[in-house]
Amino acid sequence: MTEACLERVRQIEPKLGAFVRVTDELALKQAQKADGLLSEGKASLLTGIPALIKDNMCIQDIPTTCSSRMLENFVPPYNATVIEKLNDRGMVTIGKANMDEFAMGSSTENSALFVTHNPWDLSRVPGGSSGGSAAAVAADEAIYALGSDTGGSIRQPAGFCSVSGLKPTYGRVSRYGLVAFASSLDQIGPLTKDVTDCALVMNAIAGYDSRDSTSAGQPVPDYTKCLTGDIKGLRIGIPREYFVEGMQADVATAIRVAISKLEELGAQVDEVSLPSTEYALAVYYIIAPSEASANLARYDGVKYGFSYQEGQNMWENMEKTRQHGFGPEVKRRIMLGTYALSAGYYDAYYVKAQKVRTLIRREFDEVFEKFDALVTPTSPSVPFKIGEKTNDPLQMYLSDVCTLPINIAGVPAISIPGGFAGGLPVGMQIIAKPFAEETILKIAHVFQEATEWHKMRPEIQ
Ligand code: GLN
Repeated sequence: MTEACLERVRQIEPKLGAFVRVTDELALKQAQKADGLLSEGKASLLTGIPALIKDNMCIQDIPTTCSSRMLENFVPPYNATVIEKLNDRGMVTIGKANMDEFAMGSSTENSALFVTHNPWDLSRVPGGSSGGSAAAVAADEAIYALGSDTGGSIRQPAGFCSVSGLKPTYGRVSRYGLVAFASSLDQIGPLTKDVTDCALVMNAIAGYDSRDSTSAGQPVPDYTKCLTGDIKGLRIGIPREYFVEGMQADVATAIRVAISKLEELGAQVDEVSLPSTEYALAVYYIIAPSEASANLARYDGVKYGFSYQEGQNMWENMEKTRQHGFGPEVKRRIMLGTYALSAGYYDAYYVKAQKVRTLIRREFDEVFEKFDALVTPTSPSVPFKIGEKTNDPLQMYLSDVCTLPINIAGVPAISIPGGFAGGLPVGMQIIAKPFAEETILKIAHVFQEATEWHKMRPEIQ
């Protein structure tokens, strides 16, 4: 299987650009080890399965670049917890995935290295920031991938590439060894070909970790046990605010059709309102850049990463390190965040945003007293053209309106293949209350079993 994936990578990678690095040597070594485990009867279901890891997660002795010039030569001396957990199950790591620089973006066009193309239409974006992870899984270069999601970065590319992508509850999966973007929002999760695989990867990566102070102590269930095929009587809410103005009509239609399928399968579907949704984008673009400006202060050219050395003094070296090391979107976020946190503006922006965050969270709490899950589109449009939104950051930010509120509330959500519009993928998002990943997987699985969308594969010319 590893050889087949590596062969596929050789064939299509020049067109797709999903990998920043192919770790073929490591992969073949791990595959050999997996063969040993298999013959000794010591294999788990993930043993020997080739995985692609987003390039913001540390793998010992393999460069972790975050698709940034700043970390071009950074080689971590340790493994992220998710890597350790998957290694324990015999993972084969076939490479590191391209992403928007430091996970800031929705199209993978902010990568300082190259853009990733959407396997369904090479002139379009795969989504982002985990665009490399999603494109590779959709195009059969990897069996599954890990991504990270701060405001939609697993779900939006999963939707754009027609794969399954789960953002777990905040705290469910350890962030140890994940390069920090916005620490109160970041979560690691799986991108897979179907919902069963998603459950299997969750079984491996979820759980408490003393090295992440925000890691949750809740016991980890066997997520495959909830793939029961029965959603009779489950109460599903459809939040009307998620069918936003300006949403592509055929995307809304595809999701409406998908929702009636869930009804047919026995779910009790009702419309619901989450009125604070309209503030989520503004809240996110204050909180995420604020946290980013603090997290990215560590890239000073002294401790690690790119270091400019030609200046007259330390200050000039530090300034030039950041000037040359960061790309334009990262600089924009640092400036936005620094501004929102500055004396005199802190209360008006950052504190206000935190208050509205609480309101948004409470609204979800209330809705989940009446509903087991919510269903929405993952994105307001199908994958857009490469270059279409690069000159208009606000347009780019708007492509995450349906996914941002989920991170703000800290609840879990998945995107699964929900249909097609004009031959391009449409993602369906399923949201549940904290630590109810099982409810999400149950609904996603039933839908998957009743539809063919997840079986469709792009043909790459
Ligand atoms: N697109 C959003 C942003 O640019 C979310 C990114 C993410 O989830 N990492 O901030």
